Amino acid sequence: MVSAAFSEALPYATRSVCPVCREVVAAEVYEEGGQVWMRKTCAAHGECRDVLSSDAAFFRRLRREHRDAPVPVANPGGRAGLHCPQACGLCGRHVSSPVMVNIDLTNRCNLNCPICFANANVVGRVYDLSLTQLDRMLEQIMALRPQPPSCVQFAGGEPTVHRDFIEAVRRTRAAGIGYIEVASNGLRFAQSLEFCQAASEAGLNQVYLQFDGVTDDVYVQCRGRPLLEMKLRAIENIARANMRTVLVPTVVRGLNDRQVGDIVRFALRHADAVSAISWQPVAITGRIAEQRRLEMRYTIADLARDIEEQSGVARMHGDWYPFSIVQPFIRLMEAATKQRYPHYSCHPNCGCATYLVVDKQTGQAKALSQFLDVAEIMDRVDHLADRTARHPWTTRLSVMQAMPRCGSISTRTGRPPAGASTSFWPSCRAFLRSASSRQTRPCIWPGCVPSGMARC
Ligand code: SF4
Ligand SMILES: [Zn+2]
Repeated sequence: MVSAAFSEALPYATRSVCPVCREVVAAEVYEEGGQVWMRKTCAAHGECRDVLSSDAAFFRRLRREHRDAPVPVANPGGRAGLHCPQACGLCGRHVSSPVMVNIDLTNRCNLNCPICFANANVVGRVYDLSLTQLDRMLEQIMALRPQPPSCVQFAGGEPTVHRDFIEAVRRTRAAGIGYIEVASNGLRFAQSLEFCQAASEAGLNQVYLQFDGVTDDVYVQCRGRPLLEMKLRAIENIARANMRTVLVPTVVRGLNDRQVGDIVRFALRHADAVSAISWQPVAITGRIAEQRRLEMRYTIADLARDIEEQSGVARMHGDWYPFSIVQPFIRLMEAATKQRYPHYSCHPNCGCATYLVVDKQTGQAKALSQFLDVAEIMDRVDHLADRTARHPWTTRLSVMQAMPRCGSISTRTGRPPAGASTSFWPSCRAFLRSASSRQTRPCIWPGCVPSGMARC
């Protein structure tokens, strides 16, 4: 079911927040010079405009590929009458319950980076979540309906400096969360293999590792000191403890955007240890001179262009999809297993991904969409999900047998990576076979998933 909510037409009217007072104000999104802009006016603080995407065709494609999946939270919380962005917790305006919940464990950190999303170490007071508070949060999370999230990510500050970090992971697992990850600078994981093993045994699956580049000059500028060797040791220890790493580069124009291709190649070389790259174009929020903001602004379209130009592994205008592209598979899993799963309702211009398949013999990678007609397959999987839902006696086995008829490997754009033709549908079937209500994995295909999160 392709989106009815996101038209490709520009301009359109929307709402946004004033960067000074955070009041909700009317805004217009429009095209100018091949780029997509937003203009908004606050009665108190005047007009503000910013570029949302440096490529209007890329922006439109993501909206075209978005798949609607509105399944609202059945039991929203929050304070009466207040909604996002003034208050939440989780308010009734959310179009689905969360796939992943972030829990800040602490605002302390063992680094002191000049660029810090979390403002760690500078707010003048220490925040450490107590285990009692964590238990209460987990209770609320698990009570979410129609289903609780499948993943919790600990964040901060640096969550691993919390003295009860391992116990926090253990309690989260015991509460019933199937996939647990931690956003980390990697220092503790690099320092101690025993720490990695303890975290893994407690239930930690993945480390969302701050990773800004492949040379130390980048770390000196972003983080105030050389850190590359530490990052490499962390990745190695995490893998030895049977966990996976997601590389998380914060990208700043003029600082590390020239290393985008190097980071992709690094991830492909370490595909056994690295499951994905989650690019974070730097957030530029609050009042800042327009000229300076535009100089630093780096949109997802810039990232897709740089990945194509610097690494050649994914085409900017053919291989990127909004996160919601996997919705047909989620619907099929629900129909086949008679269980509920979190829906990927992320805004198409906020998060997107390309799925790479790595040929382990040659180390070469190819985007999945270069040998599979992704849109066509998703349409057919959607129909299979509808059919299965209409016939509740359909068995999981018969659904698995029907899956390969949804599409086949094509050689239109050259030879697919070794094993792709024989292992794609078996991988999907294994995913379906192992599915349980609280165990979904972020990707359905063994390989590497570079994704970009926009902040605008
Ligand atoms: S490691 Fe992360 S939390 Fe710590 S100071 Fe750097 S950016 Fe902030
Ligand atoms: Zn204002």
